[in-house]
Amino acid sequence: MRYSRMFIPTVKEVPADAETASHKLMIRAGLIRKLASGTYIYLPLGWRSLLKIIAVVREEMDKAGAQEILMPAVQPIELWQKTGRDVDYGPTMARFTDRHGRENVLAPTAEEVVTYLAAGEINSYKQLPINLYQITTKFRDEFRPRFGPIRSREFIMKDAYSFHDDDESLDQTYKIMYDTYCKIFKRCGLNYVSVEAESGQMGGSGSHQFTVPCQSGEDTIVYTEDGSYAANLERANVDPLPKEKSNAEIPPVQEVHTPNIGSIEAVCAFLKTRQKDMIKTLVYAADGEVIAAIVRGDHELNLEKLTQILGGKHIELADELTIEKVTGARVGFAGPMGIADKVSKVIIDHAVAAMPAGVTGANKTDYHVKNVVPCRDFPLEGENVIVADIRYARQGDTHNGKILLFKKGIEVGQVFKLGTKYSEKLGAKFLDENGTEKPCLMGCYGIGINRILASAIEISHDKNGVIFPVTIAPFEVLVTCVNQDDEEVAKAAENIYRQLLDRGVDVLLDDRPLRGGVKFKDADLLGIPVRVTVGKKSLAKGNVEIKLRAEPKSKKISIENAADETIELVNSLKQKLKTKN
Ligand code: ATP
Ligand code: MG
Repeated sequence: MRYSRMFIPTVKEVPADAETASHKLMIRAGLIRKLASGTYIYLPLGWRSLLKIIAVVREEMDKAGAQEILMPAVQPIELWQKTGRDVDYGPTMARFTDRHGRENVLAPTAEEVVTYLAAGEINSYKQLPINLYQITTKFRDEFRPRFGPIRSREFIMKDAYSFHDDDESLDQTYKIMYDTYCKIFKRCGLNYVSVEAESGQMGGSGSHQFTVPCQSGEDTIVYTEDGSYAANLERANVDPLPKEKSNAEIPPVQEVHTPNIGSIEAVCAFLKTRQKDMIKTLVYAADGEVIAAIVRGDHELNLEKLTQILGGKHIELADELTIEKVTGARVGFAGPMGIADKVSKVIIDHAVAAMPAGVTGANKTDYHVKNVVPCRDFPLEGENVIVADIRYARQGDTHNGKILLFKKGIEVGQVFKLGTKYSEKLGAKFLDENGTEKPCLMGCYGIGINRILASAIEISHDKNGVIFPVTIAPFEVLVTCVNQDDEEVAKAAENIYRQLLDRGVDVLLDDRPLRGGVKFKDADLLGIPVRVTVGKKSLAKGNVEIKLRAEPKSKKISIENAADETIELVNSLKQKLKTKN
């Protein structure tokens, strides 16, 4: 391709809403343009990169034995109602009514549709296992689209779904997909880590998340220094805190008047207590049941952990009326004393059980209670009482006795063991060897194509522009003709360009009638990994310059060897990102 003919609208200024390096650079280098909040047009360079990522993903998925299909983006809502995910997704899932009054959704993912397909087509264990995938546009009406393609509303996802007759088969495919993901991310030039993840509303029993560590990431990964444990923040389990002993005997519970003082901060200020000496009681609705979750005042409840303990139930904060009914008080005065008799389950965080005593709501409007001793004043065991890990890990916590460390990152992919959640609800069953009917076991595996591109740029750039990994760069080589108006120089550049093209290199020739300085600036901005510079001075000595975008130094080589050496450089870059089969 010739730069003079290509649509590469580079710009100096970026809009104020571009916060991250990748978002800014993708606009500046002419990879994307914003259409509306969270929706982007991919320009020729951006789209070329996405196509390269798609090719890597497709190749590895096919090698792993998965089969590509294509499912509709517009899906009938009835399927989503059957699994209850029309409710779980809430406003994140876009819906519309068609001209015949039928309600549809714009697919945020495709478990329901693929399970519908399996329900109709799979009936024998002989057809299993099977792994189907697609690479298509997904739509999620994200509450806060940000960071450009990293969290957009419309994006391309590779989503795969596997069906199995037993756990062993699911484990096998899960492992194959896990290994395939490692290959894909390595080939795309990403420095990634894989961590244990929570499967949340997806249901199921196991999950790993692939994350690219970087400052601007919205995810937090939690790990031990020796690498023996790594999980995302939603998942990271913490050791129970040691039971704190009190020196003196704690006096009996004492009620204190706290008029209109409901929030933790306000109560602390009023009673001159520390947040860590408070006990928070939160009332939730979990698929029709009312439950209470109890955490220390300075700790944050982890809804994912709570969801897991409740067996994947959909949970949301109870409404005011329910809270008032359960506690007998206005919102803000809930406490653990007596609550077990009013709700179907009480889940108490380990750290609360370790407190010597605390201050908490009195289940009476405008009152709190002091000297509340776990076990003495509210039960830590019983038919409907569980003590568990339900809070977020934080600085100072340990896992198996080792200090936990925290790092920000961008999630680029996730794999799940789904179990039978979808197959049971949508009737995807098969007959086993003995003729017994069973629901298929399922796994699902997602990768964000656009996020791979953005996170590669996020971790690989400098102040002048992008530094593309060779495998996903819009072009592998840029030939810069410094003096386009000099016939001889232009001819030499054209000649190298032709040779590279003929030998299968993906090359862009900068043949614009511009000053060298401008061209070099653009070359740095675009980040094409190998650059060949053809200029009048060097050419007079029979040389051209060859340089890696990632390295400051260039090398002079004779014009005869230019194509060979360029190809060697491209290959050496590719070699570094190669994976074993
Ligand atoms: P997040 O927690 O970041 O919202 P998710 O866990 O909901 O993502 P999945 O349902 O696991 O996402 O989707 C699979 C992959 O799709 C993610 O790993 C990510 O790479 C990509 N993805 C998800 N949401 C977005 C989005 N809004 N914009 C771009 N890519 C996305
Ligand atoms: Mg995910």
